[in-house]
Amino acid sequence: MARLILDGLSKTYPPSGKTPGKVAVHPARLEIQAGEFLVLVGPSGCGKTTLLRMIAGLEEVSSGSIQIDGREVRGVEPHERDIAMVFQNYALYPHMSVFENMSFGLKLRGVPKEEVRSRVESAAQTLGLLQPDNLLERKPKQLSGGQRQRVALGRAMVRQPKIFLFDEPLSNLDAKMRVEMRAEICRLHRKIGATMIYVTHDQVEAMTMADRIVVMNQGQIQQVGTPQEIYQKPANVFVGQFIGTPPMNILRGSIQQKGRGWEFQETTGAEGMSPFRLNFPAGLQKSLESLLVQEAVLGFRPEAVHLEECAGDGCFDAFVDLAENSGAESTLYLRTSQQRWGVRIPRIWDKSREGQTCRFYLNPSDLLFFDSKTGKLLEKIQAR
Ligand code: ATP
Repeated sequence: MARLILDGLSKTYPPSGKTPGKVAVHPARLEIQAGEFLVLVGPSGCGKTTLLRMIAGLEEVSSGSIQIDGREVRGVEPHERDIAMVFQNYALYPHMSVFENMSFGLKLRGVPKEEVRSRVESAAQTLGLLQPDNLLERKPKQLSGGQRQRVALGRAMVRQPKIFLFDEPLSNLDAKMRVEMRAEICRLHRKIGATMIYVTHDQVEAMTMADRIVVMNQGQIQQVGTPQEIYQKPANVFVGQFIGTPPMNILRGSIQQKGRGWEFQETTGAEGMSPFRLNFPAGLQKSLESLLVQEAVLGFRPEAVHLEECAGDGCFDAFVDLAENSGAESTLYLRTSQQRWGVRIPRIWDKSREGQTCRFYLNPSDLLFFDSKTGKLLEKIQAR
């Protein structure tokens, strides 16, 4: 277990030939607690792998420091950092057996034979490589993708490193195997309690595995928080829309005073669909007044909307463009003037009602407000 501090860590790739220079990671400070499972998530090219490789010592650092348990490791060779890395492509030696693949690094370090056998067998036991079939003498080509990934994990485990780094380790597996391996890695983390940093572009992996998530975009850290914090209180529009399936609904429009309450009206679009309108009750926080003069940006999760024959504040009508039933629940895609957006209801929906206008309820206290220019969450503005 180790505590890790990245302070002002950044990476700029220099220009080469006709390719201009590129800031892959902007200076960032990040503290990772001993034993924490931290997930770096973001779209392709946002700098996750570069950040991970700098920690591993595989990528030169442009600025800042990396401290492991208070010791500066910038300039320290990768194999002296006490870090093990698990990649997407397993990187197993094809001509070696599972046992040899797992023990190779230990032998190079001169670990005594008996100790090597005991560590390999213990890791193999934990990872299910001994039962129902003993796979230790098999070659990588005689294994399934999931089994190969287990061997790659085992090879990292036997080193008993202070820190595990994972770079999209499950991307090569099919959907079912990904779910199984996800659980496997979480169990492993609980069992050995090591500090783990895990890179993925899959927000479901991030939400299900992390103690804390770091959301990145274009080399910048957008938000650091627990899965719940990130989901319920995204720092900006990007995070709200990156995390969640369907993503957070973001509607742009204006807010006007209406009687004793307020009304949001979505900006009119070109398609002739009715704009989304929502009345807020009277007695709201004064803070909403600051939005009267500017474009208002509303955000809410798909499950905040309920199919309900209601009347009054929070009720609205919308055209149901498409419904996707997925067994226990349905996602309805509503079309309003600007866009199509999602609503999740906890039951099967009669698809013959597609193309109709239905009534919904959205509790105004579930709304978030974002700055129309910067996209940042306006934390002090609430509709309640
Ligand atoms: P992915 O999920 O696709 O692996 P990522 O978030 O891990 O992406 P990085 O591989 O860290 O992203 O790359 C970050 C940025 O740096 C990208 O724009 C990439 O094109 C750029 N980049 C990566 N390696 C180099 C390099 N050697 N020279 C120049 N630019 C690079």
